[in-house]
Amino acid sequence: MKIHEYQAKEIFARYGIAVPKGSVVTTAQEARQATATLGGKAVLKAQVHAGGRGKAGGVKVVRTAAEAERTARSLLGTNLVTHQTDARGVPVRSLLVEELADIKQELYLAITIDRGFRGPVMLASAGGGMEIEEVAASRPQDIHTEPIEPVLGLMPYQTRRVIARLKLAPPLHRPAAQLMTALYRIFTECDCSLVEINPLIVTADDRLVALDGKLDLEGDALFRHADLRELRDRAQEDPLEAEAVDEGIAYVKLDGQVGCLVNGAGLAMATLDVTNAAGAPPANFLDVGGGADDEKVSKAVSIILSDPAVNRVLVNVFGGILRCDVAARGIVLAYQRRGATLPLVVRMLGTNVEEGKKTLRESGLNVTFADTLGEVAQAISRAG
Ligand code: GDP
Ligand code: MN
Repeated sequence: MKIHEYQAKEIFARYGIAVPKGSVVTTAQEARQATATLGGKAVLKAQVHAGGRGKAGGVKVVRTAAEAERTARSLLGTNLVTHQTDARGVPVRSLLVEELADIKQELYLAITIDRGFRGPVMLASAGGGMEIEEVAASRPQDIHTEPIEPVLGLMPYQTRRVIARLKLAPPLHRPAAQLMTALYRIFTECDCSLVEINPLIVTADDRLVALDGKLDLEGDALFRHADLRELRDRAQEDPLEAEAVDEGIAYVKLDGQVGCLVNGAGLAMATLDVTNAAGAPPANFLDVGGGADDEKVSKAVSIILSDPAVNRVLVNVFGGILRCDVAARGIVLAYQRRGATLPLVVRMLGTNVEEGKKTLRESGLNVTFADTLGEVAQAISRAG
């Protein structure tokens, strides 16, 4: 789950990481007042769940309170399109109004899970700021990677190594070590999949300040963070994905046309490979899970059918905890409720498979059955 920059900075501050003074506003009038409070100069930052705001015009320096009001009016209520969003962008409903920083240097510091290392790594670069992706692409050696053994935590020799790589001046060594330790505590205690400060600045008076903040929370750990769950902003999420989250369905929107209903994440990924190989790219990843009843299956099919890009549906269900007859009833329910007619390719195996197939056969829906993945591939390319 993503949260806003201002929320990440509130967490940073609680752990002793310095952030600029500022406040969140939702109207142009409030932006004017907040800027006046800061002495008439400020930076206005669109609060959206996407990076790349600076380059997309979502971060604006203003030099008077009146300019703040005008700028806020031009940002609030619009959609911000950055290189990390789709063409529709994400809605700007609030702005962070912050005191201007006097920047001497922009650094990059983050902790994330590295799949190769199978654990957390700290990433650091002296070349932080808006060009970090360019640095990563053209000069990867300029980004230091420090793997952290979860059993040991971030060790002092590691923070010293990172500090050496960042070439920080000696007076900054101790504050930098404290900041890295705090960042790792945030990462573990909040169950983050990513915590990132870009830029982490060295100010003209030699302090380290988190000028930006990004924090992604691991969805599977949110059950033990009632306070962090509250930070969810549904307006920033893809509507179909948000609906799926509410229903406890693992759903990721993709670019193709084949709507996929699968139980089990591994089978779902294999299914995506099969449709892709058949030249029919999937419209989504969807794992309806093992414990689904017919209502939940129906909800999942309904989410698939409400995607306008979908022109056929592939069901690949291995009946175990989710029985085939239950899956079939859920599918028929969703099609009938929506009056849908899209062709269905169904591969069903396992518990109550005959009953499930019977339900589908008698439903009057346009169903093709396939038993092997090879048959699935053939049927799905024909169905388009
Ligand atoms: P992002 O583009 O979404 O990552 O947004 P950031 O919060 O990182 O802001 C983008 C850039 O705006 C930063 O890299 C800074 O160079 C610049 N910026 C942000 N706040 C200030 C500020 O207070 N003063 C100055 N001079 N620049 C700022
Ligand atoms: Mn940034």
